Amino acid sequence: MQDFDLLIVGAGPVGCVIAERAAYLMGWRSLIVDKRKHIAGNCHDRYHDNGVLIHSYGPHYFRTNNPRLLGYLSRFTSWIPSNYLVKSQVNGKLYPFPINLTTLEMFFDRKLDEVSAKALLEELAVPNQNPANSEEYVLSRVGEKLYRAFYLGYTQKQWGMHPSKLAASVCGRIPVRLNRDERYVDHGNQVMPAHGYTRLFETMIDHELIHVMLQTDFADIRGIFRPRIGTVYCGPLDQYFSCQYGKLGWRSLEFEFRDFQKEFVQPCVQINYPNDFDYTRSVEIKHVTAQRHPETVLSYEYPRAQGDPYYPIPSAESAQLHNRYNLLAEREQAENDVFFAGRLAKYRYLNMDEAMESALANFEQICARHGINVEALQGH
Ligand SMILES: Cc1cc2nc3c(=O)[nH]c(=O)nc-3n(C[C@H](O)[C@H](O)[C@H](O)COP(=O)(O)OP(=O)(O)OC[C@H]3O[C@@H](n4cnc5c(N)ncnc54)[C@H](O)[C@@H]3O)c2cc1C
Repeated sequence: MQDFDLLIVGAGPVGCVIAERAAYLMGWRSLIVDKRKHIAGNCHDRYHDNGVLIHSYGPHYFRTNNPRLLGYLSRFTSWIPSNYLVKSQVNGKLYPFPINLTTLEMFFDRKLDEVSAKALLEELAVPNQNPANSEEYVLSRVGEKLYRAFYLGYTQKQWGMHPSKLAASVCGRIPVRLNRDERYVDHGNQVMPAHGYTRLFETMIDHELIHVMLQTDFADIRGIFRPRIGTVYCGPLDQYFSCQYGKLGWRSLEFEFRDFQKEFVQPCVQINYPNDFDYTRSVEIKHVTAQRHPETVLSYEYPRAQGDPYYPIPSAESAQLHNRYNLLAEREQAENDVFFAGRLAKYRYLNMDEAMESALANFEQICARHGINVEALQGH
């Protein structure tokens, strides 16, 4: 058995970034374990039986406003430009989503410009300076009709809860635009790795100091390895502590993949179904991977109460439980050099860019504990 400097639990983006930085900047040897059969965590992509590249765990649209992060990742991949276009199906019609000027014109069947659209929304909105939940938040921005058409059904399906029971931030993330920008998100850089995410992370951890053990649950190797520097734990926070205070709540998804013998089925990468079907959205990822192929694959997402943990449930009860586990995590770090990193251990929804930025910060923190200033090493 080899000596390792770091034991990293989870071969997702966070585990891979920390292993790469540790090898490249510090010459530290890492062992990464993951209970799945593959690396790249939820960003994993693979070729479907018909040869179409698909995203295994829901569509992953890379976007960032951080040029440093993009520069760092560009060591491991080239990029293709991407426009993530999403439409929402309401009463049999496809509307641009997030709501923009075109959505408003189609929905209210009248010509609008920025000024008249703003006036219309002010007229529709239910004034509320301090919305306490997602329902109040959306009503305060777009009013009852748009709330019922685009948000209510989708949110209920996604979370299995009424929007009035969810924090305002859940729907607060979705912009409302008074221009014709149809992109899903506003970030300055919206790009996809030219050969996919799995290849990106394979390249990232292709280093003689990085060892990977797949299909290995942390529970089965706990206590066997004694890393010299510490353990980076990217698994679920409550599971590390044997769920001693109870389980942290997560919302899960089931993915159904259907293949079609035609080049494209949908007009854009994602269609949301707020009011029809049991699934929330259908995704034809080929629109953004730029793969040329005579066939296509669509994935359909069914929200579930049980299954893999995907979205932390944003309620006051979860926040309280999370705080209790956090205190244990702080002690574990101080006493045993266990660093809790990534979306599962932080119990926070993080986009890829945020997850990898947090991984770089975690790495700095680990080094700082050993009196090493990473800033001084950067650029190497
Ligand atoms: C449906 C969906 C869609 C998304 N879309 C986007 C998007 O469009 N754009 C975007 O930027 N982000 C998106 N994300 C977020 C993105 O997936 C995360 O930011 C990213 O995966 C976080 O990386 P991570 O390493 O923290 O966690 P993960 O990728 O989840 O990796 C954690 C790894 O730890 C392993 N693990 C857990 N427990 C154990 C254990 N006990 N033992 C061993 N291994 C263990 C898991 O198997 C997993 O491989 C999406 C997420 C979901 C769920």
